[in-house]
Amino acid sequence: MSKEEIYTIPILDAFNTDCECPFCHLSDSLEKDTIDFVLGPSYMDVSIRQITNTTGFCPTHFAKLFNETNRLGMALILESHMKKVRQDLEDRMNSDKPKGFKMGKRTALDPVKDFTDTLVDHCYICDRIQDFLDRYMDTFFYLWKKDSSFRVLVTASKGFCIKHFGQLYGIGEHVLKDKDFQDFKTDLIAIQQTNFDRVIKDLEWFITKFDYRYENESWKQSKDAVSRSIQKLSGIKP
Ligand SMILES: [Zn+2]
Ligand SMILES: [Zn+2]
Repeated sequence: MSKEEIYTIPILDAFNTDCECPFCHLSDSLEKDTIDFVLGPSYMDVSIRQITNTTGFCPTHFAKLFNETNRLGMALILESHMKKVRQDLEDRMNSDKPKGFKMGKRTALDPVKDFTDTLVDHCYICDRIQDFLDRYMDTFFYLWKKDSSFRVLVTASKGFCIKHFGQLYGIGEHVLKDKDFQDFKTDLIAIQQTNFDRVIKDLEWFITKFDYRYENESWKQSKDAVSRSIQKLSGIKP
């Protein structure tokens, strides 16, 4: 079984799910699985602990982990992560200054600044989600190229959030041949605009419903129009 085939089922499931972006849907379940994994079977696993010690977590995921019930697991993860951060900082402070470092002028090569920047830029959960999403994107194009029924499924979907729309557009430009990319681009933009129109229409009706003349009318599909608009624009499900 090729690696694309392994990821085909989650991709098809996501495109068969009623949502504003199948990749956000995949990302949400990856996030949930990874949080359960971090505070479940993995936190006593030395190899995983070595990674979380180095990367730590972003503010969003620290908050989500804190809200879980395994406080002892969290304390153990934090204890070894904090000790590692303290040690790494000490090592960086004591390390030789790199070439290009000028006294009195801090540059990006400063080992301490490089250390803090790297720590801030990484999160075990975000990195794992992105790693899987990259494979799902590869699988998307594998299916797009070989399976016409998948194209039908994508065309019938509700489109994507702006971030994942942009990623599909960018990756498509690299992995598809010129002519195929032109066709893909046309289809992708049509799907996106049609579905932006759908959400805008729901939003308009939601606003109209606040006019007393329409208060007895049905909400139609508009009750969650504000939440779905934010999902379309940002990928975040409020
Ligand atoms: Zn998305
Ligand atoms: Zn994160």
